[in-house]
Amino acid sequence: MIEQPYAYRRRELAEPDWRRLPGWAGVTAAEWASAQWQRAHCVKSIRQLRQVVGAGLDEAFYADLDRDQRERATMSMLVTPQMVNTMAPAIGPAEAGFTDAFYADPVRRYMIPVFSDRRTDWSSHPEASRDSLHEAEMWVVEGLTHRYPTKVLAEVLPTCPQYCGHCTRMDLVGNPTPVTDKHKFGLTRDDRLGAMLGYLRVTPGVRDVVVSGGDVANLPWPRLEAFVASLMEVDSVRDIRLATKALMGLPQYWLTDEVRAGMERLAATARERSVSIAIHTHVNAAQSVTPLVARAAKAMLETGIRDVRNQGVLLRGVNDSPEQLLDLCFALLDEAKIMPYYFYLCDMIPNSEHWRLTLGEAQQLQHKIMGYLPGFATPRILCDVPYVGKRWVHQVGRYDTERGISYWTKNYRTGVEADDPLALDREYSYYDPIYMLPEQGQAWWRARTAAPAAAVPAGAAPASTEPVGAARP
Ligand code: SF4
Repeated sequence: MIEQPYAYRRRELAEPDWRRLPGWAGVTAAEWASAQWQRAHCVKSIRQLRQVVGAGLDEAFYADLDRDQRERATMSMLVTPQMVNTMAPAIGPAEAGFTDAFYADPVRRYMIPVFSDRRTDWSSHPEASRDSLHEAEMWVVEGLTHRYPTKVLAEVLPTCPQYCGHCTRMDLVGNPTPVTDKHKFGLTRDDRLGAMLGYLRVTPGVRDVVVSGGDVANLPWPRLEAFVASLMEVDSVRDIRLATKALMGLPQYWLTDEVRAGMERLAATARERSVSIAIHTHVNAAQSVTPLVARAAKAMLETGIRDVRNQGVLLRGVNDSPEQLLDLCFALLDEAKIMPYYFYLCDMIPNSEHWRLTLGEAQQLQHKIMGYLPGFATPRILCDVPYVGKRWVHQVGRYDTERGISYWTKNYRTGVEADDPLALDREYSYYDPIYMLPEQGQAWWRARTAAPAAAVPAGAAPASTEPVGAARP
């Protein structure tokens, strides 16, 4: 037998026992399976986390979390019991070593970030910004981003059943935090959805609609079903993708009779009209793929929709090794029938430097995961380049590894460049985390910035005084 860098072994999924957590010791299987119970018992505060884990976590952890929430967090805390239960799954709070296991846990690292996780030298990159992908700038009507020629993103609501620390839509999604206020939609929900449909009816060049938010699991089902049904009446719309991390974070919702029956109706109409409906979920760690998640994904496939796909985010300390990525992809593909599809580099939002990988690291990861999964299920690792869009990490044009600046080009105009004759000739920049650069590169950035980046609050103007490269139109 040849020894390989990664050894595939089929692994059975396991639902961690929630009764190991003192706050949920008496919770029945029926309660756990209820989407309503899950929503009502989300962990939203340090007090509630204490109630769940009891005295199992050291006081230092709570202090660390409290400081992060006051000084760094761009997302408020909201974690479903289903997700809390997958953190440190093999150990109970009463056992020695629980605090260390909880600190080290990959799901904890992005769902319940603490101050000591983050960089103190460069907490934010000087070029980081709220809405780092400029989605709102490209709204053609409120909440509808028209960035690519044939595709639009419909942000149908600004909430989710769970909030991820690294959320790229931290500008819009969730509750305000001490360091980040949130953009508020101006239109009512129904007016906004109506305006989106109005735009699509008169824009026949769009064939693909990503229905997102937030998370579609927070839109009342009848409203979501009506919106998707209306999308299918638009002649040019051929692909509809429903974005929901809750397929993993709150699988109980996708297993409800109401949702399954409604999705069956949508799938039947989609078949009649030759439209493809798919669910896109967001799973970052293999341990999140539990039997309940697999059941929910399979239940959705059984309704007759085209596919369930995963778009994860590459995060340091969470899934930054080939083993972690391959374990996750095999759990998704083999056990839950979820197609591994994309992994994104973490976007350049404030206070995200500790999570972000360099482009070079992402290229290495892409190289190392090739050849193990079937080709159709080998995820592409992407850089979402501001004002460009998704690019495979090997598509970079030039890459200055000393300063950590990569340069990219594109072959279409985004919604804000209709009159820009240079849009297709220009180079657009993306930036590696500065602390990963060689000393000369770090010195270059220090010289460019007026103040230490750690002092830049979320949402403040970048510390640099002029754009790097010819990046911004
Ligand atoms: S589920 Fe998606 S939209 Fe919601 S907080 Fe997480 S990353 Fe952001």
